[in-house]
Amino acid sequence: MNRDLPLPEVSIVIPVYNEEAGLPALFTRLYPALERLNTSYEVIFVNDGSRDRSAGMLAEQFRLRPDVTRVVLFNGNYGQHMAILAGFEAARGDIMVTLDADLQNPPEEIGVLVEKMREGHDYVGSIRRKRQDAAWRTWASKAMNRVREKITNIQITDQGNMLRAYGRNVVDLINRCGEVNTFVPALAYRFARHPAEVVVAHEERAAGESKYSLYSLIRLNFDLVTGFSLVPLQFYSMLGMLMSLASAVLVVLLLARRLFLGAEAEGVFTLFAVTFFLMGIILFGIGLLGEYIGRIYQQVRARPRYVVQAILERSELSKTPLD
Ligand code: UDP
Ligand code: MG
Repeated sequence: MNRDLPLPEVSIVIPVYNEEAGLPALFTRLYPALERLNTSYEVIFVNDGSRDRSAGMLAEQFRLRPDVTRVVLFNGNYGQHMAILAGFEAARGDIMVTLDADLQNPPEEIGVLVEKMREGHDYVGSIRRKRQDAAWRTWASKAMNRVREKITNIQITDQGNMLRAYGRNVVDLINRCGEVNTFVPALAYRFARHPAEVVVAHEERAAGESKYSLYSLIRLNFDLVTGFSLVPLQFYSMLGMLMSLASAVLVVLLLARRLFLGAEAEGVFTLFAVTFFLMGIILFGIGLLGEYIGRIYQQVRARPRYVVQAILERSELSKTPLD
């Protein structure tokens, strides 16, 4: 990494996965918005193994604005959060701002976050004024938000939104973590000493479609919960204790009935219902254990979390001041 160049104040980190349709619009809005900040900045695009022309377009943008643009190219698809982490490793600014490449987070709002950071916060989250996503997603995300807040004790009002700013101290700590399945805003919240939130605009996806299926959204939420809390496991232990207690009472009751009223054969289907219900709970419990164990397994294998194929950045030779 080239650390001899003058350091910018603001680093923008943008993960990109198959966004060829939206990138031109992003470039035309992003750079003017950053110029208006009147400070030194750099933009770090992380190509998360796109299979379309995104990588080529990012390289072209680097050629056009090498003074403020750097591009990290992954050799495959490692997910949005890994891309952001790679961006953090490369970022040199004091304030890191993450942004989606699809223009759902208006670049014009970056200034609001930077202002808030300058007031002395080391993490600034954002809440979407009016969310522009499918209704089912908005609803499910709100519900999940509430459950997650209870379980993990992380106060992020709007967890699905990635327009956020992080201070250097927080990013340095994040860079020291080797977590495989993680959720960047939650990690940052854990490390922040003085977090804050602001309200920002949200737009519909400019082009292309969401890269998250229902399945990957569920997995992401598991990452968030298992990565930041053991409460689900403890809840299960307590549920198990309650169940044992309840069945002990039932045994006593049935025994008394057998002794005083005689044998019973009715209620077979009730028995089925109760058994299936308990089997469901047990299967869910095993699955939950598996979620933790699978993550432990991935972690202990200690493979590289992502592989950077190349970084496009200005070489030391062409050293000129950034601002
Ligand atoms: N993204 C990524 N890798 C992935 C999936 C998504 O880098 O595996 C990027 C994507 O290019 C975009 C951001 O993460 O910049 C958010 O993705 P998307 O807009 O599809 O998510 P949504 O807005 O639907 O939550
Ligand atoms: Mg989006």
